[in-house]
Amino acid sequence: MTRRLVLATTNAAKVAELQELLDASGVAVEVVARPADLVVVEDAPDFVGNARRKAVAVAAATGEWSLADDSGLEVDALGGAPGVRSARFSGPDATDRSNVELLLVRLDAAGARAPADRVGWFRCAIVVAPPPGSEPSEAELVAEGSVQGRILEQPRGTGGFGYDPVFVPDEGDGRTFAEMTSSEKHQLSHRGRALRALLPGLAEVI
Ligand code: IMP
Repeated sequence: MTRRLVLATTNAAKVAELQELLDASGVAVEVVARPADLVVVEDAPDFVGNARRKAVAVAAATGEWSLADDSGLEVDALGGAPGVRSARFSGPDATDRSNVELLLVRLDAAGARAPADRVGWFRCAIVVAPPPGSEPSEAELVAEGSVQGRILEQPRGTGGFGYDPVFVPDEGDGRTFAEMTSSEKHQLSHRGRALRALLPGLAEVI
């Protein structure tokens, strides 16, 4: 029997991406988006905490297995900011562009101009929560992934989203994430790594 996994997102692209990844790895799961009217407050101090909040809320609302991720950028010279506030770094009406602009201003103000002073980490946490009332053996799964890189002084590239145009992964060839195809990014990215770490456990419980 193919189990359903409800994603804590309404983003159709995220649902399709995860379905593709699971199909390719032979995990028989049907991925669906969460109900659109469910609101979850993401106020935990870390990525795992926020992913858990979302996954548990969706599992409770739907009575099904749920998967949630939470991610963001941590910059060493800024004491780990923007961190869990990555999406709203530049305020409640933040856009990717205004967030990137503020990041560059803050790094400049911190005097972080040399590449060695502009180290950043994308981090991703994924939590899979069982339906409420599950056997203890069907406990939640947690997986994490991160990627180290440098923050450029000027954006480059048009792909991806968020801080991709200013992030050059150390293990890459000098291109930003926004200059890579999505599968190239996925090989190195925090999200790709967290998902690959999750798959063996998911194949066991689902
Ligand atoms: P969330 O996990 O969807 O809440 O994402 C949080 C925020 O972190 C996003 O809005 C982006 O600003 C940033 N972020 C997370 N992952 C990435 C990525 O792969 N590329 C660029 N920015 C990212």
